[in-house]
Amino acid sequence: MNDLKDRVIIITGASSGFGREAAKMCVNLGAKVVLGARREENLKELCSDLGSESSTYKVTDVTSKEQMHALAQHGIETFGHIDSLVNNAGIMPLSLLEKGRTEEWDQMIDVNIKGVLYGIDSVYSHMLARESGQIINISSVAGKRVMQGSAVYSGTKYAVRAISEGLRLESAGKIQVTCIYPGAFTTELAFTIKDESMMEALMSRGIGAIAQPAERVAEAIVYALQQDPGVSVNEIVIRPTAQET
Ligand code: NDP
Repeated sequence: MNDLKDRVIIITGASSGFGREAAKMCVNLGAKVVLGARREENLKELCSDLGSESSTYKVTDVTSKEQMHALAQHGIETFGHIDSLVNNAGIMPLSLLEKGRTEEWDQMIDVNIKGVLYGIDSVYSHMLARESGQIINISSVAGKRVMQGSAVYSGTKYAVRAISEGLRLESAGKIQVTCIYPGAFTTELAFTIKDESMMEALMSRGIGAIAQPAERVAEAIVYALQQDPGVSVNEIVIRPTAQET
């Protein structure tokens, strides 16, 4: 296992959920974290808990290539370089295609796909020049299967899977690439569902009751980060034991 001490790790979507828990665990293990998301209050509070020696933040909308690059630059200026990127920011406004909620489709494509691509772009040349780096992308079990209402969300998460595999192939020998596929875990993600009938359908399937703590996924992120440079854990699928699909 690789020591995380003084490793510089960018985490997007760090204002809640997996990103926030992963940031805390990384700092506990001695890493320095560079945190991005849109809600400044949450980032400020988290960084004040983690301490300025070990953490910094920049308000970042990952749908903006300029803001994503500014986050990476902020990390380099603060801590000298970037070792790892966790492309975690995401939204999940599920709905049936027949509802025609096209604005939400656009938002999902912008955050879940373009955000991941801009994240990669913001650190790729830096990592290639150093001939080392780690990129961890958060997909979903919805990136391995489709359910009613997840056509577009799944589309974005299948894309994250394809992008991760392409990145792995193209950066072989230099960058460690991991794609993580979580099932149902307790975070704020469900609040991004705005279609009430979809939210009711999801809850009637008992997802809320079986969801497990966000820390379990943060542990999977840390496990990927701890791999020795010669090894990549390419895929991690992590579900509540009680989740069938
Ligand atoms: P949360 O809603 O708790 O966290 C999502 C994070 O993404 C927040 O910090 C949010 O911050 C950030 N975010 C959303 N939009 C943007 C944006 N435009 N720019 C920057 N940051 C943004 O949910 P999770 O922790 O669950 O989600 C993390 C990832 O895990 C997502 O990619 C999600 O799809 C994936 N996932 C989650 C599962 C679960 O069961 N929870 C299952 C499978 C996958 P802010 O609003 O402040 O910008």
